[in-house]
Parts: sequence; structure tokens; C-alpha cells
Amino acid sequence: MPVLFEPFRIKVVEPLRMTTRGERERLLQEARYNVFRLRSEDVLIDLLTDSGTAAMSTRQWAAMFQGDEAYAGARSYFRFEEVVHSLTGMPYIFPVHQGRAAEHILFTLLGGHGKIIPSNTHFDTTRANIEYTGAEAVDLPIPEALDPETPHPFKGNMDVERLEELIQRHGPERIPVCLLTVTSNTIGGQPVSLENVRAVKQVLERYGIPLFLDACRVAENAYFIKLREPGYAERSPWEIAQELFSYADGCFMSAKKDGLANIGGFLALRDAELAERVGHLLILWEGFPTYGGLAGRDLEAIAEGLQEAFQEEYLQYRVGFVSRVVEWLTEAGIPLVKPAGGHAVFVDARRFAPHIPPEHFPGQAIVCALYLHAGVRAVEVGSLMMGKRAADGRHLAPPLELVRLAIPRRVYTESHLRYVADALADIYARRHELRGLRLLREAPFLRHFTAELEPL
Ligand SMILES: *Cc1c(COP(=O)(O)O)cnc(C)c1O
Repeated sequence: MPVLFEPFRIKVVEPLRMTTRGERERLLQEARYNVFRLRSEDVLIDLLTDSGTAAMSTRQWAAMFQGDEAYAGARSYFRFEEVVHSLTGMPYIFPVHQGRAAEHILFTLLGGHGKIIPSNTHFDTTRANIEYTGAEAVDLPIPEALDPETPHPFKGNMDVERLEELIQRHGPERIPVCLLTVTSNTIGGQPVSLENVRAVKQVLERYGIPLFLDACRVAENAYFIKLREPGYAERSPWEIAQELFSYADGCFMSAKKDGLANIGGFLALRDAELAERVGHLLILWEGFPTYGGLAGRDLEAIAEGLQEAFQEEYLQYRVGFVSRVVEWLTEAGIPLVKPAGGHAVFVDARRFAPHIPPEHFPGQAIVCALYLHAGVRAVEVGSLMMGKRAADGRHLAPPLELVRLAIPRRVYTESHLRYVADALADIYARRHELRGLRLLREAPFLRHFTAELEPL
């Protein structure tokens, strides 16, 4: 295998803390077998999320010192606005403290009882914010997306036929907006093709329904288009993203992902009337529209980070790193979602631990085993995160049971991930010893963050 080349050198280091197996047994029990309840100091390698966990560059830190902390009209806002405007081409740009704040505002205005909001696949906070308004969130992935083994270059694509059926069945007046999540986080960080975006847009245009992008990982998505979609090899990821946004009527983005920032996000719109209503709610919930719940220095870090995230050497390393981990795990025979996605490796828990039924959370059993064995924190994306309880109390399993190893940007080296791959291979070799779990307590929504469990 060729050497993976990190296009940066390390200037500041943070020591890692090893724990013993005995300590981890106690800590996991105290955390009620939910790794969200662990302290990060008790985690050796933290692959819980790629959100807000990036290492910032010297240029970002330097930019933060330039932060203008004025309440209104800060210079940092205009720098941020210029970058987001250049990327999205949208005239109305609102900073928010993170992605879900944009969702909250947008769906408060567009959602509500009787409304239906389709997506290629909704992310968990997006779904929760839609459902909270009484609207229904519908996933319309292409069929290939639901089979972890099927190789398809754009598994994030939306099923355009089903979209049109949905519109005809319910009527366009019930569908205030259609979303495309780029890349699709929940089904494996899989990209959406420009061809698919155009096809979706064509259908929506016929019915007068706006298209919005959930653009958290748009740089990674643009790079996959460059690598895989005919006709784009010579275009820069930034230009490809500009084309992506050109088909959208609006977008929101958590800058904690491809913004390479530790906090922040934005909502960008083309429609003046909607922008005016967003501005009112922004002031109510986030802050004045030129800071939107962020410090001026955060706006600077995002403006710089967004540009760095589109650099080709960076994206080559980023996407190459994830696929390298996929190669190692494949060599160990571990069942995975293929091909490799942009920000994470997704283990197929259903095939990893077929003896554990969905209602006993096979993914969570693997997550707990990985922490106990190696101090590594991953996250379940399956029955615990997305399962539902039917009226008769039966467990309704989502289509996939996955374990996500999210890779923070520019944080861990190849040897850190080699250690993780070896640990997972050890667990796979003894997978018949894995035991399921039972849910003791759960919240009414986003239950995976706080749920309490016990091993069976
Ligand atoms: C992270 C994420 C969000 C929400 O953003 P936060 O900054 O975590 O609030 C929305 N959609 C997708 C696809 C995400 O990955």
C-alpha cells in the first residue's frame, strides 16, 4: 500500500490517556453502557463523531485573533459572508451556532402538521426537528443504499421515481421543501451525484417545490464527484460545490464538519421573503443576524476552514484515509458498508453479530466491546439511534444496523487508526462472545444520546 501522506505537520500535541481493562469495565457500567455518557478523558481514541472535533490550522488560529466582536455589523461577519456567498451563490446568509439551529428555524417556518419533507436520508437531528413541528420526515434513498455490499459510486442518491410518486400521492401543497443531504451521513457518508441533483431538481421544479441542501459534508461530496462522475475530473472541488449549490433554493450547513471549525454553521437562502422571516426567528433564538449565536472569532475560523476543506491535497488525504481503514478492516473479514464513505467507516453490525436481534442492539454490543477491549469510542447508528416502538410495544428496526467509526479531521495519524482496526479485528475473531443489551430508560426523541442500558 502506498504511504498515506498527511498534508500538514503537527505543531501542538495533546497527550492521550491509557486506561486499564478493569477501569473501563467500571466506567462503562457507570455510563450505563452508553458511550455518550463517558468522559472524553477516559477514551483513548475518540471516533464518536467527526463533528466539531477537527484540529484547526495555524491560519485558522491566526484568523481567530482578528475576530471582531462587535454586536452588529462586525467585520468578521462580512468576511464569513463573502466566503459562504462565493461558495453557495446565495444572497441571504445567516450564521447559527450549529447545524440544528438552522434546522429548528427552517422547519419552524416550513414544517407543521400535515406537511411531508422528503430527503435522500434525513440525519437524526434533521428528522427530530421536522417531527417536532408535527411534520413527517420521509427517506427516499435509492435501493442500492440499503444493501451494504452493493458497490455503487453514489449511494447517497435519492430515488427520483419514488419522489415523484410521493408528490403525486400527497399533492405538492403538502411538501414545503425537499432536502438532499450531501454526503448522506446516516447511510454511510455516501455521496450524491450531480446527475441525481439535477434529476431531483427537475421533478421539484414541475411542482414548484424548493430544493434545499443539508450541506455539512459538501467538500467531501464534491471530491467524490470529481473522482467518480464523468466530466468532472478537471474541475476543482470548490467549483463542483458551486454547481451543486446552483440547483438549490437554500441550504444549511454545520460548520463543525467541512467547516473545519469546532462550532458554528449557517443557513443560506435565495428567497427574500423567507429570509426576512428567518431573520426574525434568528434574533429570537440565536442572536443578531451578523453573529447568529457565534463569537466574531468563530466566524473567522469558519471562513478560513471552509476554504481549507476544499483544498485538493487535503481532500485526497481525507478520503484516502477513510478508504485505507476500510481496506484494513476488509482484510480482517469484517463486514462493512462499501464503498468507503467520506468521513467515517461503517461496520455492518447485522452481519458482524447475526446472533443478536435488532431489539437487543447488535451495534451497541460492538460499540461497548470496542471500548472495553481498546478504549476506543465509536457510535451505534441502528436500532438504538433510529429504532421506533410500535403502538403495541414491538420494536421497529431501521433498515440498517451499523457502527460508525467517525474520523475527526486532521486529528489522528495512520498508526492510531491501525490500532483501532486491529482492536476491531480481535473483537470480530471472538464475535460469538458478544451479548446484546436491554434498554432501561429512554428520552422521547434523540434517545441514543441519553439512553441507559444493561447487558443481557
Ligand atoms: C451534524 C449534522 C447536522 C446537524 O448539525 P449540528 O452542528 O450537529 O447541529 C445536520 N445534518 C447532517 C447531515 C449532519 O451531519
